[in-house]
Amino acid sequence: MVSTQAHFLATGKIPPLLSKLGKAARVLAPVRTATTVTLFQEWQAGAELALSRQASMPPKGVVFPQTEQLLSYAYTKDANDLTRTTVALDHQLDIKPTILFGARACDVQGLAVFDQVFTHGEWQDDAVTARKDALTIVTLLCHESESTCFCTSVGGSPTATAGSDLALTPVDGGYLAEAITDKGKTLVKDEAFTPAKDKQVKEAQRVRDAIKKQDVLPLKQIEQKIIKLFSTEFWDQVSASCVSCGACTYVCPACYCFTITDEPAGMQGERIRTWDSCMFYQYTLEASGHNPRPTKADRYRNRIGHKFSYHPTNYKGAFGCSGCGRCIKSCPVSLDIRQVLREAAKHG
Ligand code: SF4
Ligand code: SF4
Repeated sequence: MVSTQAHFLATGKIPPLLSKLGKAARVLAPVRTATTVTLFQEWQAGAELALSRQASMPPKGVVFPQTEQLLSYAYTKDANDLTRTTVALDHQLDIKPTILFGARACDVQGLAVFDQVFTHGEWQDDAVTARKDALTIVTLLCHESESTCFCTSVGGSPTATAGSDLALTPVDGGYLAEAITDKGKTLVKDEAFTPAKDKQVKEAQRVRDAIKKQDVLPLKQIEQKIIKLFSTEFWDQVSASCVSCGACTYVCPACYCFTITDEPAGMQGERIRTWDSCMFYQYTLEASGHNPRPTKADRYRNRIGHKFSYHPTNYKGAFGCSGCGRCIKSCPVSLDIRQVLREAAKHG
């Protein structure tokens, strides 16, 4: 139900609001770039806001940058005994308060996967945790589902507000704004927001109720079905057209595979973390030359198994997929994860 305590944010007030917020925080918003793709970028006055459709890339970089320095190091030799070396490590976090404006509910569900893996449990990543703590999320609820969306099959909804601080629903002339958390309540105190009229609250409810239902995927017991699905023939067949480009993992709001490399320069250097992809042959290639997942079928089985079997096993039934559909849109050979899941569901 739409809150009757909601506010209204006129479309024309958004650019100046973002510029104003940008004076005290880093503001990321979906922006149409020169290459016509829509990316979450640091807001600059005059940029072209793109709020009508899902962004081309998810905003996961806000907590998990594509490349980041984990630490720097420097070796010092003892001038009197060159067999003795001292290593100095430097690890500094430069975390700024950040406002993520215009994320979709599936993007926010993707960020919840990062929470499960990096900010809770036995191993906590201080950089991801600090970025998440410094984050305020303004979610733009969807007024329609795209043909590739399946969020409702994986526990989400185009209008889910879980994980958001402020939720916006498109209405005539702007957005109905509902504060979900104290951070959201602070945001709506800005003069850009005005108390919503009764007819705007009703319109927002109509917009939400009118969203066309998505196809429901048969995911009952998929966790057990996939873990038992050892048929090489099945995985060979579904992954036959895959060209191992890794696009599906890079555009995924819930994929978090990474690699760590040292970049030395003389007696000093940096340790860097970058996104990686389980769809790459090199991802599991061991120094010995052995590769436990040498074929496309092995890698594709792992990708699907991770998202729909191992992740739910480890995280109380939560899927490692938010149903955003970006992997379907971005795959150069049109491999459709929904079709693979439908086929897998017929087994077991
Ligand atoms: S696996 Fe595909 S549909 Fe699921 S969250 Fe990732 S990109 Fe979106
Ligand atoms: S985007 Fe398609 S072709 Fe590329 S790795 Fe993923 S499934 Fe394979």
